[in-house]
Parts: sequence; structure tokens; C-alpha cells
Amino acid sequence: MTTGLEGKVGLVTGGTSGIGRDTAILFAKAGVKVVVAGRREPEGQETIELVRSAGGDGVFVKTDVSKAAEVEELIHQAVEKFGRLDIAFNNAGIEGVWVPIVNQSEKDWDRTIGINLKGVWLCLKYEIRQMLKQGAGGAIVNMASISGLIGSLGAGAYSASKHGVVGLTKTAALETARNGIRINAVCPAAIETSMAERLFGAPEVHKYVLGCHPIGRFGKPAEVAEAVVWMCSDRASFMTGQSLVLDGGFLAGPNPPS
Ligand code: NAD
Repeated sequence: MTTGLEGKVGLVTGGTSGIGRDTAILFAKAGVKVVVAGRREPEGQETIELVRSAGGDGVFVKTDVSKAAEVEELIHQAVEKFGRLDIAFNNAGIEGVWVPIVNQSEKDWDRTIGINLKGVWLCLKYEIRQMLKQGAGGAIVNMASISGLIGSLGAGAYSASKHGVVGLTKTAALETARNGIRINAVCPAAIETSMAERLFGAPEVHKYVLGCHPIGRFGKPAEVAEAVVWMCSDRASFMTGQSLVLDGGFLAGPNPPS
């Protein structure tokens, strides 16, 4: 069965590594022309090479998603290159500094919220404007996290930013449903990327976090990509305003000892 995404134009932010890169490649395999946005030019070009090796077409646009002018220019460049914008995965994010709230600096709080939450809002703003102008619907997935649904010790700013993304997703979905634009979020638990390595790489931390995943392993970026591509396809045509959890059973309940 095909995804029905052939010939569509899709945007992936934070596509220079991890989940974003794997999603850009899977979009390409589904026939989507991919606009990859991120801050790191060499890694962005590397993603485009992988997109081309997968038989697709793509372009990298250097963008900091926390800056309004850069996000507006990103959408402009996407439309200039491929003529339209049909789908978007607002994935760019940082873990920030994980410390108790009492030790969190204002600078780190502002940076985390600025990229993870304001960045998603800016992307939504300019993506929706473009999709409304085209008048042919669209599909958007925002990257949240299970930290957008439960608290995470030491991750006040990160957790607040991801809870914000879940709320913003619902409002955006309400505002666009009648225009045929579907907007959802995805909430993964630990996924094997450089971010997870930075956060959970220390042996004791790794053991503890792994123990929270009943399935007995972390997820893979490609597993998140599969869900995102599905959510962007017409096969998910009745789904909007939802936050899809991909967590190996993390939120199902306490993990029984093995
Ligand atoms: P990653 O560090 O490999 O990817 C993050 C990407 O976002 C990078 O490409 C980075 O360059 C980009 N980015 C950061 N700040 C940016 C900015 N201001 N403008 C543009 N791009 C920017 O890690 P990842 O795990 O692939 O993370 C992707 C997303 O998934 C993040 O939003 C993260 O919070 C979320 N997430 C990750 C996990 C996990 O365990 N890995 C779990 C849940 C959610």
C-alpha cells in the first residue's frame, strides 16, 4: 500500500541529525520533495545527499527556528524551490540544561522555551499561512515528547516546552480543521539519538531510564519517522489535534521487575 504522498512538498526542521534526518529520508522514499531546515550547513547537506540516495529530491535551508525572520524566509525558500508546501514536521529541539528548578538560569529557560516552544509556534504560523493561501489542506506534525505529558525530574524548562507544544497543537488543529489542515503531535520516550546519548549516556542513568521502558530498549529514530509519515498521509485522514505516544510502554504503568 502506498502512502499517497507522492509529489507532495514537505518540510522537516531539525533535519540535520537524529529523528529529523530519518524522517526526511523516509519522506523521500514516499516520494515527497523535502525541504530540510537546521542550523548546521554540512550536516544539512549530508541529509540532502541521503535524501537523493533514497531516490528523492530535496534542499537544505539554514534556519534557526527561534527567529521569526528566518522561519518566514524558510517557508518563502521552500515555496520558491518547489512551488508549494503540503506537509511539515516541526521537529527541531534541544534538551537544554537539566537541573532542578531552583538552579535553572533564566538564560537556559529562555533558550529552551525559545527553540522548543516558540520555534514550533513560529513554524506553525508561517506554514499555516502558506497552506491557507494554497487552499488545498495540509498536514503538520509537531515534535513533543512524553515529557509533554508527564513531569520529568530536573527537566522543568524542557517539560514545560513540550507540554506547551501539546497545547499549541490542539489549538492549531481547532483553528485549521475546517480548512482541511490536520495538525498533530508525536510524543516519544527515549529514542537512540545524540540527544539521548547526551542525556542518558552515563551508565547509571542509562540503566534507570532503560528500566522505565517495559519493551526493554530505547526507540529508534526510524520508528518515529514511520509514525510521522503515516500521520502526514491521508491514511490518518480523521486524526487531528492528537498527541501520539511512542514509548515502548513507558506510560502504560509501572514496569514489572524482570
Ligand atoms: P538531535 O539533537 O539529533 O536533533 C535535534 C535537531 O534539532 C538537530 O538537528 C539540531 O541541530 C536541531 N536544532 C536545535 N536547535 C535548533 C534551532 N534553533 N533551529 C533549527 N534547528 C535546531 O536529537 P533528536 O533526538 O533527533 O531530537 C529531535 C526532537 O525530538 C527534539 O525536539 C527532541 O526534543 C525530541 N525528542 C527526542 C527524544 C529522544 O529521546 N531522542 C525523545 C522525545 C522527544
